[in-house]
Amino acid sequence: MSVTVVGSIAFDAVTTPFGSRERMLGGSAVHFSLAASFFDDVHVVGPVGDDFGPDEYAVLEGREVRTEDIEHIEGGRTFFWRGAYGWDLNDRDTLDTQLNVFADFEPKLSLESRSTDVLFLANIQPDLQREVRAQCEGARFVALDSMNLWIETARDSLIETIAGVDCLLLNDAELRQLTREPNLVRAARKIREWGPRVVVAKQGEYGSAMITDEGFFGLPAFPLETIVDPTGAGDSFAGGFVGYVAAHPDAELDHELLCRAMAYGTALASFNVEEFGVERVARLTAGEIGERVGELRRITSFSEKPLLLRG
Ligand code: AMP
Repeated sequence: MSVTVVGSIAFDAVTTPFGSRERMLGGSAVHFSLAASFFDDVHVVGPVGDDFGPDEYAVLEGREVRTEDIEHIEGGRTFFWRGAYGWDLNDRDTLDTQLNVFADFEPKLSLESRSTDVLFLANIQPDLQREVRAQCEGARFVALDSMNLWIETARDSLIETIAGVDCLLLNDAELRQLTREPNLVRAARKIREWGPRVVVAKQGEYGSAMITDEGFFGLPAFPLETIVDPTGAGDSFAGGFVGYVAAHPDAELDHELLCRAMAYGTALASFNVEEFGVERVARLTAGEIGERVGELRRITSFSEKPLLLRG
């Protein structure tokens, strides 16, 4: 089976307390694709400009990501984002966003991308997400990510797009902003009334929480001593989470399976933040992922021993 992703393909300039990069491969669809490539065939959809060359393709193709639906816009420049982090790595300032080739992008999916089993609408203008959703009618599972920019500038369109997906993944602050509900459980209930049956709140270094018809599940982030660059952590999480779903084409997508998907998302995000941009995930191995998921299971479970509590 396969996963199709539409989202930004970017050059990022990033400063963190541990260093900086002036121009590195990034974008929501890129981070997602590399993470999801450990689970299934991935088709990445999005536009790039003349500045996107063999080195960038090589990173994606090095993980066998299918790049036929990357549209090269002659004379254009690739989407560019500049961000900076202070000591609180959960918080970042966007210093520059240049949509460039995304400004006039009209997604045209190949037959292979359209007939995907699983679709991820990574962070990009919600009208574009909806156009892609409409082209992938047969998808069994559709998940969506977004950000404060679109909540602030295209809220109605975003809500319409959300109504057509199975799963919404969003930062917890953005969930509150979108629903205008300070309480996460209430916010998730509201989202579920709009359409998606699964809501995942990404909580940065505090982990993630999921709410489905069957209840609540939470995981901490994997405890790391070294975090260098959080850029793309959310998309890598989504790549692990959605990739795990894609790797189970015949299974019922019940709460249990989605809890395991959360563990894989958590593991992928934890590798992503260890180095700048895609540097770490590009040379990650399947064995390392398996080991980290095992470690995560060990540190998040405890044995039950009955204790007679004082009344
Ligand atoms: P994350 O840290 O997972 O939220 O995503 C980081 C990625 O999002 C970066 O690689 C950026 O290129 C990309 N990005 C930043 N702003 C936008 C935007 N307005 N639309 C689409 N992608 C964006």
